Amino acid sequence: MSRPTSRDEWQSRANAMQIRTQAFINGQFVDAASGKTFDCISPADGRVIAKVAECEEVDVNRAVEVSRKVFDSGIWSETSPVHRKKTLIKFAQLVEKYTDELALLESIDMGKPINDSLKVDVAATIRCISWTGEAIDKVYDEVAPTGRDELGLVTREPLGVVAAIVPWNFPMLMAAWKFAPALAMGNSVVLKPSEKSPLTAIRLAEIAMEAGIPAGVFNVLPGFGKGAGEPLALHMDVDGLVFTGSTAVGKHLLQCAGRSNLKRAYMECGGKSPNIIFADAPNLKSAAISAAYGIFYNQGEVCTAASRLLVQREIKDEFLAMVMETGRKLMPKHPLEPTAKMGAMVDATQMKNVLGYIEKGKAEGAKLSMGGLQAHAESGGFYIEPTVFENVDAKMTIAQEEIFGPVLSAITFDTEDEALRIANDSPYGLAAAVWTNDISRAHRVARKLRAGSVWVNCYDGGDMTAPFGGYKQSGNGRDKSLHAFEKYTELKATWINLQP
Ligand code: NAD
Repeated sequence: MSRPTSRDEWQSRANAMQIRTQAFINGQFVDAASGKTFDCISPADGRVIAKVAECEEVDVNRAVEVSRKVFDSGIWSETSPVHRKKTLIKFAQLVEKYTDELALLESIDMGKPINDSLKVDVAATIRCISWTGEAIDKVYDEVAPTGRDELGLVTREPLGVVAAIVPWNFPMLMAAWKFAPALAMGNSVVLKPSEKSPLTAIRLAEIAMEAGIPAGVFNVLPGFGKGAGEPLALHMDVDGLVFTGSTAVGKHLLQCAGRSNLKRAYMECGGKSPNIIFADAPNLKSAAISAAYGIFYNQGEVCTAASRLLVQREIKDEFLAMVMETGRKLMPKHPLEPTAKMGAMVDATQMKNVLGYIEKGKAEGAKLSMGGLQAHAESGGFYIEPTVFENVDAKMTIAQEEIFGPVLSAITFDTEDEALRIANDSPYGLAAAVWTNDISRAHRVARKLRAGSVWVNCYDGGDMTAPFGGYKQSGNGRDKSLHAFEKYTELKATWINLQP
């Protein structure tokens, strides 16, 4: 089937699609034990797209029990790295085969532009699964330096049952960052997607089975945070809890781990990333385009969104004019419109939260220079204009709190020290960028920025080869790269006394 080229063609493909809406446990689609469902709402027009199984504690117990049994059987956990590698590579190939279907599901469920789903979300998910699969049989364990009468083995073993709780902004990709290394290391996985975007996760579980991952190794439980997420976090037979989402929920889940069985718990949380533009940036025009995409891409619903623009005083007016020139070209459109660069906010609640922050920015005295309003209200969908505030004080709410929407807060600075002080004045530390032509300044500033990712003369750089995660209240642990494996394994020291 050839790829649709217009919104109407994508829409008729969506209308004809059979959407999977049940939980996936032990290799089978099943209803929630209670029979309950919740509505999956279209961000584009507010209509109900599907009714999805609402899993709760009883379903969690079932999925964990199956995962444990399958883990203990060794059917996946004790297979050779080469076998797991081949299976994950097959999995990635199948995701590629179903690219259009998965991209369409992501866009109708979450509201992001179809071209971004195709070129970013699905493409990066394929890369994540295949890169991780390729890596498995290239990671060695260690032999300790001992005398000849001893042998010390330092080996990595799978944790066992891993629960992954993920957000809605990159539903498939955030899930893949967890399940790919978890499966690669031999664990069983119970994935709980966000209630706002469950559709691709459900489909992925089926694709994993088609690739040859045995029944019960990869289970998906759609449901709400309290109903399905919390019983997973508190479960006494879950060995690892990996999470991407808000800092508030991340803190709560660490407590759940402590209150239950001290399961290994890794949280990837929010951000309020500074994008620092010095007057000597190599190319102000491309820095400005990048600054605009840094905040407006994915409707600003990005953990690393370049939400704080720190711009040096002498270039402030010129630079902001260029940012807004790009911003005006990004007005939101229907997510299935192939020319859309911004789509709809994920739901009415998120839209209201963001509009609330815009009101707060105005009330606290920032200057609203662009946007600030809901768009296309007549559609019934949840669109917001790209919005720019200038004359923002670093202490204002819109400079401190994560808005998670297309709202830029521009702050002016004079000196390098001042820029660093403002940049680090945040409870978050996920990412930061610095633009300058001075190599010493680039290194000086990069070293002093308290963030897990620092970009120099670019924004959102990096790929599967680089670890990703936060300092401070942006989280602990790292996704991507070989470092991700650390979260999904226990380290065992086996010390052997050798007879002479
Ligand atoms: P959220 O914290 O509201 O929800 C995330 C997940 O946690 C969802 O599946 C939700 O159902 C579940 N959940 C909510 N309450 C729970 C509870 N009491 N117990 C167990 N599970 C619970 O976050 P969100 O709104 O889905 O996502 C947005 C947030 O995610 C932003 O803060 C963003 O910065 C962050 N994020 C971080 C990264 C990263 O890598 N650091 C990446 C993407 C998104």
